[in-house]
Amino acid sequence: MTKNNKNPLNNKAKLSPQTLAVHGGGARSPFGETSEGIYFNSGFTYESSLSAQQRFEGNEEGHIYSRFSNPSVDMFQNRMALIEGAEAARATATGMAAVTTALMSQVKAGDHVVAARALFGSCRYVVEDFLPRWGVNSTLVDGRNPEDFAKAMQKNTKAIFIESPTNPTLELVDIKAVADIAHASDAKLIVDNVFATPIFQKPLALGADLVTYSATKHIDGQGRAMGGIILGSSEIIEADIHTFIRQTGPSISPFNAWIMLKGLETLELRVKKMSENTAKIADFLALSNKIEQLYYPFNDKHPQYELAKRQMSNGSTMVSFEVKGGQEAAFRFADALAIILISNNLGDAKTLISHPSTTTHQRFNEEERAEMGIRRSLLRLSVGLENPDDLIADLDFALDQI
Ligand SMILES: *Cc1c(COP(=O)(O)O)cnc(C)c1O
Repeated sequence: MTKNNKNPLNNKAKLSPQTLAVHGGGARSPFGETSEGIYFNSGFTYESSLSAQQRFEGNEEGHIYSRFSNPSVDMFQNRMALIEGAEAARATATGMAAVTTALMSQVKAGDHVVAARALFGSCRYVVEDFLPRWGVNSTLVDGRNPEDFAKAMQKNTKAIFIESPTNPTLELVDIKAVADIAHASDAKLIVDNVFATPIFQKPLALGADLVTYSATKHIDGQGRAMGGIILGSSEIIEADIHTFIRQTGPSISPFNAWIMLKGLETLELRVKKMSENTAKIADFLALSNKIEQLYYPFNDKHPQYELAKRQMSNGSTMVSFEVKGGQEAAFRFADALAIILISNNLGDAKTLISHPSTTTHQRFNEEERAEMGIRRSLLRLSVGLENPDDLIADLDFALDQI
């Protein structure tokens, strides 16, 4: 027998984000499992030939093939949309599949894209190298100045692509101002929100049309699986994004979608603790005489501190800094760490350090790196869930070795 109760909390609209992160979007099977099931299948069967025909025509609800949709993937998309405050979402195999899908679905040959210069390495590759190969020109601007976006707009500009805070120098883009510039030219604003996480910044509320995540980062947050997701209005997601994924196939595996779905249950707890640790570490680093420059949006010396306070609810889980003594000192410092691991991943429970100019950004020449503010003395720290006192002791020892 099913329960017959009139509890108003049966209405999901009445639930808070924390409750939705645990229960939202779930679809319990007739077996009544507590945790969400994994639907590990590629295809689906139909009651009849007519039913198959109607499903393909879109006149009957139901799954067809896991490249288009799958119950485990749906649960991740639905829960994530509830957390983000988006009408709809589509998951992808990686964060780069999400960025590429978001961009490709909005342009055709002859169109133009504007993007901030400071981007995650592969995002910049897509904008700067791939799009022009397909006849879509792109202009890169200084993301800190909204006027630079306005100046770069052309009659054929269809999209602006930004990331804020940026990787690895934690520069900010004024999302609201850039959204207004995009919309004045009938272009879409796409925001890669990885560094801010869905908990600390809501680009759709600031005017963005599409938000993308590498779910590999904080959403999994435990270094296990790759994934990505794109969120926005039902109109853009169901027409442009769904069609692109259905026909070209950057789809996420049901198993990875399930990992991400379960990651969402603890996302807020994890990123809040990680950002508390980050703030403590930023305060510690700010006082060291071995450090030349600190980049943390919620540090009051950050040149865009006011904007950070306005559009983010927290300074995030990332902090970057320059050590005195260039690359040699940076290497000596990183090599002296014991708990903190050298890795280019981020948003993980484990604290990770990377040297962007010799790894993620090594394909750029010195001049391009200078434009992005990536010096050889720069290190990027992704702060995890360890006891912050242990992390500070680790950093303190390594600073002494410089
Ligand atoms: C990691 C990352 C990506 C790419 O995500 P993958 O899951 O590695 O493909 C895109 N943008 C930003 C800002 C990232 O940090």
